[in-house]
Amino acid sequence: MSERVYLDWNATTPLRLEARVAMAAAFELTGNPSSIHFEGRAARKLVEDARQQLAAALGAEARNVVFTSGGTEANVLALQPGLISPAGAPMRRLVVSAIEHVSVLSGGQFSHDLIELAPVTPDGVVDLDHLRAMLSGQPPALVAVMLANNEAGVIQPIGEVADIVHEAGGLLHVDAVQALGKIPIDIRALGADLVSVSAHKLGGPKGVGAVVLAGDLQHFGPLLRGGGQERNRRAGTENVAGIAGFGAAIAAALPALGAELNRLTHLRNRLEAGLAAGNDVTIFGANAPRLPNTTLFAAPGVRAETAVIAFDLEGVAVSSGSACSSGKVTPSHVLKAMQIRPELVRGAIRLSTGYLTSEADIERCLEAWRKLRGVLGKG
Ligand code: PLP
Repeated sequence: MSERVYLDWNATTPLRLEARVAMAAAFELTGNPSSIHFEGRAARKLVEDARQQLAAALGAEARNVVFTSGGTEANVLALQPGLISPAGAPMRRLVVSAIEHVSVLSGGQFSHDLIELAPVTPDGVVDLDHLRAMLSGQPPALVAVMLANNEAGVIQPIGEVADIVHEAGGLLHVDAVQALGKIPIDIRALGADLVSVSAHKLGGPKGVGAVVLAGDLQHFGPLLRGGGQERNRRAGTENVAGIAGFGAAIAAALPALGAELNRLTHLRNRLEAGLAAGNDVTIFGANAPRLPNTTLFAAPGVRAETAVIAFDLEGVAVSSGSACSSGKVTPSHVLKAMQIRPELVRGAIRLSTGYLTSEADIERCLEAWRKLRGVLGKG
């Protein structure tokens, strides 16, 4: 059997060699980063080096980086009631865009009755007029809008969102888990007050992430009560090897970001032209700015679960556009929010690429698509 083609980089990515090497070195260390002896200081150095690397990647200050166990924890940690705006106003409501990752949609530490959904347009972009109307003349809100969507790859107009949120006296959280390492990010240019990131989406290990604050946010506290690690913002001994791997992955990914953006855009254009050739194919979010590595599409008569298995048998790993956790497939809330017809939602297939994806992989995928399209589809 020929080699497999992995086109599910938005789910997770292969561990970069640089991350593996950094982690192997970290595993040799004994110390707890909170200990003041030589061993402790050696572990502390790895954590602080990675903090610098992540801060530099986002244009943030290292002391404003809070390491967590991943993107999910970062989101839940960030969405805390009791944050105070620079003008001294407490956040009494949580407004989240309808296409957020489930860890944001479920409201973090806010009680459910305080969560409100901000709708998106059929292109998957947050509806700015609607957001403005939701916020004006109301108590200040913590607002969560992701930078890039994990399913359709649509990039949100965060600068404009930030202006709307701040004019209304609120604070802005941005889930940048899918954006880090794929498009340039500068926390100040974005206008975000809090940003979440995760290591395993850019070649770092699974189970490490961070909340990055744009400044000193008053009353930002830990999720769990325990030790005073991470400046009293996240209790528990740091995952030293994971954090070192995260820093190494960022350092490896960022210098190539511009070139990769162009290369992956070229591959995506080739992929989408090939998918659509002779077929009635819908590419979701096609009219909006999108990540260079993501294609979410459907064709009439093709069901996503069947297509994922058929692709797999052809040696190509893809994902259904439906939210899939613990093997349970449910219709995508993202496509529902984009008002996509239910039969197309059931057929949504996500192809996502990364730095190891080659032209040959794209051709293998298209070959598989042509084969299974004939067998599965009617149209
Ligand atoms: N946010 C987005 C947009 C994601 O795509 C994901 C992972 O799929 C997460 C958050 C959660 O990150 P993690 O898997 O590190 O918990």
